[in-house]
Amino acid sequence: QIVRRYATMQINRNERGEEELEKMIEVKHLSKSYGSKLSPVKALDNISFTVEEGEFVGIMGPSGAGKTTLMNILSTINLPTMGSVLIQGKEITKMKNSELSDFRRKKLGFIFQEFNLIDTLNAKDNILLPLAVERMTKEEMEKRVRHVAQLLNIEELLKRYPDELSVGQRQRIAAARALVVQPQVIFADEPTGSLDSKSATELLNYLQTMNQKEKATILLVTHDPYTASYCDRILFIKDGVIFSEVVRRGTRREFFEKVIDMQATIGGGGKMNAV
Ligand code: ADP
Repeated sequence: QIVRRYATMQINRNERGEEELEKMIEVKHLSKSYGSKLSPVKALDNISFTVEEGEFVGIMGPSGAGKTTLMNILSTINLPTMGSVLIQGKEITKMKNSELSDFRRKKLGFIFQEFNLIDTLNAKDNILLPLAVERMTKEEMEKRVRHVAQLLNIEELLKRYPDELSVGQRQRIAAARALVVQPQVIFADEPTGSLDSKSATELLNYLQTMNQKEKATILLVTHDPYTASYCDRILFIKDGVIFSEVVRRGTRREFFEKVIDMQATIGGGGKMNAV
């Protein structure tokens, strides 16, 4: 399935004429320190990795490993101490504020543990919110909502207000809101964190659909091996460095087992260890 998905994508050739997928995210020698110069806390220590277009990549690691710091830099909320991040070849770490907010709004989608839906707006208006500042015709907006609603199976829920929706349904509305801008990258931070296992599985299946049908590149942070097993590849972070990488081959079940093994090796990162 993955091979088929990649086959439809733009293929570049490198100097040696080999086929190369377009790089969606390039992280180069990224470091981030907090605190004073005299006693800095190194949250990220010279991290480099690449995410290709259409990949579904997970980030795991014990509490304090640097996951949030990394996500905040990638999603342009925070700046690194050193190094750079390129999204579709654009160096976001060098962008000016005005350019950055435009970039964030148009190119990035966010799904968090807290859905941040607005209670006084119905589901449809919540989904449309990111488009409110765009100059878009009403027809185009309607078309976009219909498309994401169909994809996430929320067509029947569009008129409801957040307090008339289940937790799982609310997270699907939040996912639709992230997708409606047709972002280049979707950042998901513990998206299943407040869901029961049935709703979590549903959401993960929808994320997979977004990834496979919409070719959305997804970067997901999670503590949960089950959630992680939906990814193509997991980067394990520990003490601010990439400790290892596990690539999915074979079934999701096999991948799940590999993720659990790696968590045991890394020492922590499971829900029980996070507290
Ligand atoms: P994770 O998300 O993997 O739990 P974080 O990125 O939150 O890890 O934290 C990495 C390290 O950076 C930890 O040691 C944490 O205490 C430190 N840290 C994170 N944010 C701040 C901050 N705003 N000020 C000082 N230290 C921070």
